[in-house]
Amino acid sequence: MSLIVQKFGGSSVADAESIKRVAKRIVETHREGNEVVVAVSAMGDTTDDLLDLAHEVTPIPAPRELDMLLTAGERISMALLAMAIRSLGYDARSFTGSQAGMITDAQHGAARIVDVTPGRLREALDEGAIAIVAGFQGFSRESRDITTLGRGGSDTTAVALAAALGADICEIYTDVDGIFTSDPRIVKRARKIDRITSEEMLELAGSGAKVLHIRAVEYARRHNVTLHVRSSFNYNVGTIVYDPQKLPEGEESTMEESIIAGVATDLSQAKITVVGVPDVPGVAAKLFKIVANTNANVDMIVQNVSAASTGRTDISFTLPKDDGQKAITALSNAQDGIGFESLQYDDQIGKLAVVGNAMRTNSGVSATLFEALYEAGINIEMISTSEIRISIVTRADSINDAVRAVHTAFGLDAEDEAVVHGGTGR
Ligand code: ASP
Ligand code: MG
Repeated sequence: MSLIVQKFGGSSVADAESIKRVAKRIVETHREGNEVVVAVSAMGDTTDDLLDLAHEVTPIPAPRELDMLLTAGERISMALLAMAIRSLGYDARSFTGSQAGMITDAQHGAARIVDVTPGRLREALDEGAIAIVAGFQGFSRESRDITTLGRGGSDTTAVALAAALGADICEIYTDVDGIFTSDPRIVKRARKIDRITSEEMLELAGSGAKVLHIRAVEYARRHNVTLHVRSSFNYNVGTIVYDPQKLPEGEESTMEESIIAGVATDLSQAKITVVGVPDVPGVAAKLFKIVANTNANVDMIVQNVSAASTGRTDISFTLPKDDGQKAITALSNAQDGIGFESLQYDDQIGKLAVVGNAMRTNSGVSATLFEALYEAGINIEMISTSEIRISIVTRADSINDAVRAVHTAFGLDAEDEAVVHGGTGR
């Protein structure tokens, strides 16, 4: 008997019909002789609707109450799903995050899992029931309050449950057939990936790919959980996300690796340029300490060569748009102390990243990338690299052309157009 954790995203349970369809699918897995635990997201756009509602009531909702409100979305879908399964003649029980033993720290809106104690789920399974768990939520022992894991956090719920219960596999059901070489909504000829390493998946998720929550990938990597990302709208085999170092004995990666696993884009970032920074030791440290104190998450950093005549330089960096205002305010307040000339803020940037394990051993990837962008008439403003990733920044309005050109240049285009079933990709 296998233990399978299945996660269904909001677009897979968007209405009563979908919930009944998903219920049938869960029952099929159960009838094949498996123990099944399900993590479920809120129906369709429920979370966004609840957020809008909160902001109609007050411009700055209290974080504790916001979490209380948002977790209601997953309570609705879990209860409906359990009812639908019961009406098919099978035992199913729904559990809130706290009932399921998802213990987190106390940080509302971005809580981290500190412990998972799934005793009640284990009991339900032992009694032959299917356990349905509300995704994206937990409980803090410190504050004794309900918390949420951050947008898209149901993936992380599923992975954490899989790790704690020692599941054989964690299946992430979504509205596309798996992980694609690029977002199939933008790149029509994006290709489904059969297998991808968790390291590549981390880089893609960190570069804007939205199909998996980045913390879920981190958690899976740390706890050696194999993921299967697949569609809830058909029975096709999806994408396996695995750690090549932890494959079971005797099983080796059979796939011929392509140099590039995928191309991701990100329109959620902004760029700050600090103009005329004195080029002396310690200034960058001061600047980024100020930014770090605002909790902004800095990504790319570029420092120009300083002009010999002035002894000053420019430093640019990217960060989430949501963090932009507080970083600008903090830096402005420190302008006199640090002695830079001015600040520029640009929220019309787009980031593109190519990711691939085989970059380690293949030269020429950056040349191919830059050539493709040049031929598409796209200007590069910033570049950064890791061992298996090259990222560039360009204008937001040229990012779709850029990703299509790069996808083609690396030979990733599929014969046929990808099928996208619905929803928003979650
Ligand atoms: N419902 C939450 C959200 O929309 C969590 C999730 O879908 O994973 O962000
Ligand atoms: Mg959702």
